[in-house]
Amino acid sequence: METATMNIKIRRTEQSRINQLDPNNIAFGTLFTDHMLVADCVNGVWQTPEIVPYGDIAYNPALASLHYGQSIFEGMKAFKNEDDEVLMFRPLENFKRFNISAERMCMAQVPEEIFIGGLEELLRIDAAWVPKGEDNSLYLRPFMFASDVYLGVRPSQNYRFMIIMSPAGKYYSTPPKVKVETEFIRAAPGGVGYAKCAGNYASSLYPAKLAAEQGYTQLLWTDAIEHKYFEESGTMNVMFVKEGKIITPAVSTTILKGITRDTLIQLAKSMDIEVEERKVPVVEIIEGIADGSVTEVFGAGTAVVVSPFAAIGFEGNDYVLPAITHDSVSSKLKDALNAIRTGKVADTFGWVWK
Ligand code: PMP
Repeated sequence: METATMNIKIRRTEQSRINQLDPNNIAFGTLFTDHMLVADCVNGVWQTPEIVPYGDIAYNPALASLHYGQSIFEGMKAFKNEDDEVLMFRPLENFKRFNISAERMCMAQVPEEIFIGGLEELLRIDAAWVPKGEDNSLYLRPFMFASDVYLGVRPSQNYRFMIIMSPAGKYYSTPPKVKVETEFIRAAPGGVGYAKCAGNYASSLYPAKLAAEQGYTQLLWTDAIEHKYFEESGTMNVMFVKEGKIITPAVSTTILKGITRDTLIQLAKSMDIEVEERKVPVVEIIEGIADGSVTEVFGAGTAVVVSPFAAIGFEGNDYVLPAITHDSVSSKLKDALNAIRTGKVADTFGWVWK
């Protein structure tokens, strides 16, 4: 694909809104930084990206992505270290996954200069928006949608790529009660489960709503064919601790390949914790909770790092997990990862970008 020269045009805001940011009281996803990046791909040719003041965008009602859902995104975080330097965590992995999603949704590939270069330039301009403080970060949201104005079903010829950024605070949550879903599915072999496309999130809302009515905070998805094997949970990958070992579903076309998942696996191995990536039968875990061999079940994702579950609901019964302590595997992994991504300890893995 042809690429235009990758200068970024910059038009700065005349009036910063930074005084709206209270680092001690951040509501996720509601406040956005002063600037955003916009880049259009016109008939296969990327135009010069622009950084402009954050604001509304206007669209024709026949916008292709609104009708047929060619729309993908990424979710990542930037942190500030003690020296006020801005750190990104494994951004190349998000960049690669973005283009894997784009390929599956038959959308344009985004050049690294626009995705990574755009993130770097935006973070330079809006660095003051990266909140300091324990558990605070700047959530980065690159996304792309089909921008043809045309009602026929076909791959769009034009795309808009954007990056917006939003301060994020501590993720307060009590350990969720999670329902093993055996009627609805998130993804099927041959489908789009491994892509971070908008429709995957839309289709999860109805089963999640039904589960909420039964008192569950989240779903544990099972495979589409037999409903016998765990897949992932909500917007997280899932891990189990059985007899001190971590067990996690092996990635496949039906599972989003989480960057936190991969990071935790590498960290666990470096801490001499054994990791098994394989099919994980629901009955193995349910029986394991009942006989005490399964001691932890947790979700892994950018938003929460690790989210230990309080109980698993399966076929009308709740299987309660032991309370998490400082010595739990999930606590150790969470502390180790948080220390690296916020620059508190040396990063021997090459994951942190200044
Ligand atoms: N699965 C799904 C469906 C997700 O949306 C996410 C969040 N991106 C994850 C897993 C975890 O991925 P990551 O660790 O890269 O955030």
